[in-house]
Amino acid sequence: MFLLAIICYAASLILQAIAAIIGFSLSFRASDKFRWAWLFLASGLTLMVFRRFGSIQQIYLTGNYSLFDAVITAIISLCLLIGIYGIKKSFQNERSKNTALKLLGCLDVLTNCLSRAEIHYQISQEIERSLRKQEKFSLLELDIDHFKNINDSYGHQVGDEMLVSLVRCIQTTLRQIDHLGRIGGEEFLILLPGADEIEAMNAAERIRKHIATTQHLTSWQAPLQITVSIGVTTFTPKQQSALDKSELLTALVNEADKAMYCAKNAGRNCSSH
Ligand code: GH3
Ligand code: MG
Ligand code: MG
Repeated sequence: MFLLAIICYAASLILQAIAAIIGFSLSFRASDKFRWAWLFLASGLTLMVFRRFGSIQQIYLTGNYSLFDAVITAIISLCLLIGIYGIKKSFQNERSKNTALKLLGCLDVLTNCLSRAEIHYQISQEIERSLRKQEKFSLLELDIDHFKNINDSYGHQVGDEMLVSLVRCIQTTLRQIDHLGRIGGEEFLILLPGADEIEAMNAAERIRKHIATTQHLTSWQAPLQITVSIGVTTFTPKQQSALDKSELLTALVNEADKAMYCAKNAGRNCSSH
């Protein structure tokens, strides 16, 4: 029994140590936004490993042990390891799906947001849904202000890094159901399902202000700031039934483009409809 208790605690120690190592390795791969969660989980698991040392040391010093506690601890450790291994697998699965999407041309190679073809596809799906359900949705077109100056002042590489940073920055302001796609060099479309005119303008302003106040970290020695101009348009199904789906898509994107140019003409770093 004594030996069994020692074996259970030693097995728990090994299982928890493996789980902690997986936790730390996942914290390096997690997005910046959720890295803290993995670090906390892995730190908790590491502290549990130290407790197992304590249990084993106590048995040696006092000879007192609880077989029930030792067995339960081993089972808990096994469950933790299986759980964390499952999460690791689901991460890998997600990553290989992203790679597949890239190969299929659904993701933008530089920024990892949706490609032009994919965001257009998502908008056409949303048009269909909107006509069926008689529900509005909105589209934002976003263009970086004076982006050429960034390339000219800091180089094309830093420009590329700014595009990646901008996409991450926008993604933190979007809902799960929203879609972000890159349609050209420094131009993006944001699809906001279910958003009416007021909600779309509020979202555009929230995104614009967040971008304007973000310090973008690139390989340049200091953080850089950029501003964007945003065109806002809303699809209202009742007014649109005469055109076919692809005409509706073209008309909507053109409308967002016109609105974006209104924002440029209004002095940039603003939203317009
Ligand atoms: P505006 O405020 O009128 O939009 O000015 P702008 O300088 O942003 O606009 P313009 O269209 O004149 O220039 C866009 C620049 O974006 C030109 C090009 O150097 C840069 N660009 C386009 N695609 C990429 C890219 O993939 N990477 C980098 N680094 N730069 C790009
Ligand atoms: Mg442009
Ligand atoms: Mg621009």
